[in-house]
Amino acid sequence: MTETPGIVVTGASGRMGQMLARTVMESERAHLVGAVEREGHDWIGRDLGEAMGGTACGITVTDDPLEAFAKAQGILDFSAPEASAEFAGIAAQARAVHVIGTTGLGPDHLDRIAAAARHAVIVQAGNMSLGLNLLTKVTQMVAAALDDEYDIEIVEAHHNRKVDAPSGTALMLGEAAAAGRGVQLDDVADRGRDGMTGPRRRGDIGFAALRGGDIVGEHDVIFAGAGERLMLRHVASDRGLFARGALKAVLWGQDKKPGAYDMHDVLGLG
Ligand code: NAP
Repeated sequence: MTETPGIVVTGASGRMGQMLARTVMESERAHLVGAVEREGHDWIGRDLGEAMGGTACGITVTDDPLEAFAKAQGILDFSAPEASAEFAGIAAQARAVHVIGTTGLGPDHLDRIAAAARHAVIVQAGNMSLGLNLLTKVTQMVAAALDDEYDIEIVEAHHNRKVDAPSGTALMLGEAAAAGRGVQLDDVADRGRDGMTGPRRRGDIGFAALRGGDIVGEHDVIFAGAGERLMLRHVASDRGLFARGALKAVLWGQDKKPGAYDMHDVLGLG
């Protein structure tokens, strides 16, 4: 019997980190070999299973990614932008497939991730669900079919602990809409309105963010024209969805050449 890939989860105490750890532990296609948290976190040195409120699993939470990644074939990383950029270099040294779900990455983080992807497989996506990745395809098609007489607005809602806005998923949808229109998102994005903003600029892609309660993630792409509105919607009701997508990505990446990939590659959406 061939050994399944060994996986390390980063940000292990986080909402996604715990979900990822459970998903790997329950999988027959991968096994957990490590859990990383930031320096000074009170889970460091504890058994991960016990820290999550269950039984011991034999994995001790560490703040040393170098040591943890060295014994892994895959890293599931839903942590923080600076951490993910640093982990990309370390995962590349270990030749481990690095799946990055972290959102809010800036240009410097993306540059460092791209440099690491020259040496190892990196799958990065602001949303790991099949439904949402299909929605980006549909958004691109609809944006290509409708001209700028239809105003595009992207509205997202998330739980009250989310730290970045617009969500990585909203930006993915914005990129898809901009690609459909043949424009650069940076040139047309309107990322927040307050006060006397003046009328809407033709061709802009607007973003609005709602934060509250335990909302897992909801996204609407609205095409508002004269006399009609077309609304595309995705609702995520279970965080396990993203963890299953991330696991699928890390397994998919095992036999791929070094490079930067996204969920469209993993899901075969072209
Ligand atoms: P969270 O609960 O705040 O978890 C993030 C975890 O990462 C925390 O435990 C945090 O520790 C830890 N962390 C921060 N810096 C670290 C470092 N240097 N080393 C190791 N661990 C570190 O947030 P979440 O809801 O799980 O979301 C995490 C990220 O995933 C966010 O960017 C979110 O937008 C994204 N996300 C993506 C998808 C997708 O499908 N792509 C889906 C859901 C969420 P402290 O709290 O102690 O700082």
